[in-house]
Amino acid sequence: MSGKINLLVLLGAPGSGKGTVAQHLAERYDICYFSTGNLLRNEVKEKTDLGRKVEAILEAGNLVGDDVMNEMVKTNIEKVAASGKVILLDGYPRTKNQAEVLDKVAAADSIRVIELDVDADEVVARISKRRVCAKCGATYGPMDKAEVCSCGGELIKRTDDEESVVRNRLNTYKEKTLPVSAYYSDRIIKICGKGTPEEVARKVNDCLRGLGIEKRR
Ligand SMILES: [Zn+2]
Repeated sequence: MSGKINLLVLLGAPGSGKGTVAQHLAERYDICYFSTGNLLRNEVKEKTDLGRKVEAILEAGNLVGDDVMNEMVKTNIEKVAASGKVILLDGYPRTKNQAEVLDKVAAADSIRVIELDVDADEVVARISKRRVCAKCGATYGPMDKAEVCSCGGELIKRTDDEESVVRNRLNTYKEKTLPVSAYYSDRIIKICGKGTPEEVARKVNDCLRGLGIEKRR
């Protein structure tokens, strides 16, 4: 039988609404949200041993490899493990190797994976409505009716939000993520990411309730 779930992995293609779901979870639940992007920036900022290593890698124009990623995630998980808080991982594991390492850091049966499932057409429709500010870079989602940015800048479409680019990005994501979702086949929960953010949030809440994770009081 499975025991307490204390680690959630969030998977979702670019444009699947993963960022919105992560934000919802971080606000409504008493969880510890770890996105690899934030963790990396934090290590660099705090000038930890790992941070210095990361900085050197990035300065050389290289990608942060599995070893550094594994070490960074492990260190951060261990830091909060004693609190008993549920951890939400975003951006990790990206490879089967990382998933295997994670199973050694946390008990395999305490890990569940939530995958936001949206079809390519939906993502294309969403992203094609997305705009960014030419001045400050702020993103405006498909629901946002603003005509100019709050900073006064012009809202434009990014060239990498064009349909062919988006479809390419989705294919790449699928290819890369397939080994990870296959690895988790018996621990993965797929949530349909179609619908409004509120509709998706409701499905996510149902899912967490099913896992015995309660909302923040
Ligand atoms: Zn702006």
